[in-house]
Amino acid sequence: AVRPTSETIIGPLIKRYIQSHRDLPKLTNQWNSVVRWEMRSRLFLRSREFWWQEGHTFHASAREAMDEVALILGYYRSIAEDWLAIPVLTGKKSPAETFPGAVYTLTLEGLMRDSLALQTGTSHYFGQNFARAYDISFSNRENERELCYSTSWGISTRLVGALVMAHGDDSGIIVPPKVAPIQVIVVPIFRDDEGRAKVERFIESWAPELKAAGIRHRVDWRDERPGDKYAHWELKGVPLRLNVGGRDADAGQVEMVDRLTRQKASVPVSGIGARLRTELDTFQKKLFERAQKFQRDNTFELETLDEVVAHFRERGGFVWAHWCGESDDEARIKTEAGGVTIRTVDESTSGKCLVCGKPAKYRVSLAKAY
Ligand SMILES: [Zn+2]
Repeated sequence: AVRPTSETIIGPLIKRYIQSHRDLPKLTNQWNSVVRWEMRSRLFLRSREFWWQEGHTFHASAREAMDEVALILGYYRSIAEDWLAIPVLTGKKSPAETFPGAVYTLTLEGLMRDSLALQTGTSHYFGQNFARAYDISFSNRENERELCYSTSWGISTRLVGALVMAHGDDSGIIVPPKVAPIQVIVVPIFRDDEGRAKVERFIESWAPELKAAGIRHRVDWRDERPGDKYAHWELKGVPLRLNVGGRDADAGQVEMVDRLTRQKASVPVSGIGARLRTELDTFQKKLFERAQKFQRDNTFELETLDEVVAHFRERGGFVWAHWCGESDDEARIKTEAGGVTIRTVDESTSGKCLVCGKPAKYRVSLAKAY
C-alpha cells in the first residue's frame, strides 16, 4: 500500500505487545514505500513515491531511548562514511527543523559537489509524546502504568542521490567499491578472431583469481569499440578498468585504469586477485578523502548575518556561526540569506548570536540544502 507514514499502523499494533516493563524494549523495522505530495519532484531526492527504511523502538526509560537514537545515528554515519564514502556532519536539528512530535531530531548532513547540503538520514527521540498520542503504556517496576519512551529513524533511496551527487564528475558517476555492483570491468582489445581467441585464453587464465578474491567483475565482450566501452563504464562509475590486448597477454600483464584519477598502471597477472583487492581498498579510501577535502575546503566560520548573506550570494558550503536560540532570528537567516537554513545545532557557551549579537547558546552549521 502507498501511504504517507507508518505511525498510524505501528502505534495501535505495537501496544498489543506491550503490557509490562519485561516486554520492553520493542523494535520494529521495515523497508517500504512512502508517498509525499511534492510540488516539484527531483530524481532520488524528492519524488512522490520512494523507498525507505523505517524503524520504531519503544523503551521503559528515557535514557535507553535516547541511547538508541544515538546508536542508530552512528550506524547511519557508518553507512554514509564507511560504505558510501560521504563525510557527514551530525548534530541536532533546530526546533523549527525538528520532526513534528519529536523532542529532538538528530541528523546527518552531507555536502554535494555543487556545494549544497543534503540531509541523508534522521533519528528522532519522542520522549513520551508518541506513546501519549497512541496510548502505549506499560506497568513499570513499581507496578504503575507509565507511557513508553519511543524513537523512530530512517534512511531512504535519497542516499542513492547522495552517492551520485557527492562523487560524480562530467564523465558520469563514481561508485565506491564497497557498494559497486561491478568493481572491476575487463575490456578485451583485439583486431580479429585469432586475436580475440588469444586474449580470451589469457583472461580465462587469471579471471578465476578475481572470483576467488571475492571481486565483483565482468568481461565486456560486446561488439563495440574499446573507446565506447571505456566511456560506457566510466559513466556507470565502475572503480577499476582492465584493458587487455594481445601484447599484454605476451607480457603477462594488464593495463589498469582507475575511475578516480584516470591514471594507468601495468599490473602483472601473477597475484592479481590480492593486488586488485588492495587497489579497491585504496580507491575507497581515496574517494572518501577527496570528499573530506572538498568538505573542508567548503566550510567557513563567520560572525554576522551580513557576512553570511554576502557569503551565500557568492558560494555555498557549510558556514559555522553562533546563535542565541531565538526562532525569530532563525527565520531571519532563512529570509535574508535566500533560503539558508540551520543544518545542525551544538551546545556552545562562547560567541555572540550572528543575528542579534546577544550571548550565544549554540554553535550552528548553516547551508543551502536540497
Ligand atoms: Zn539572536
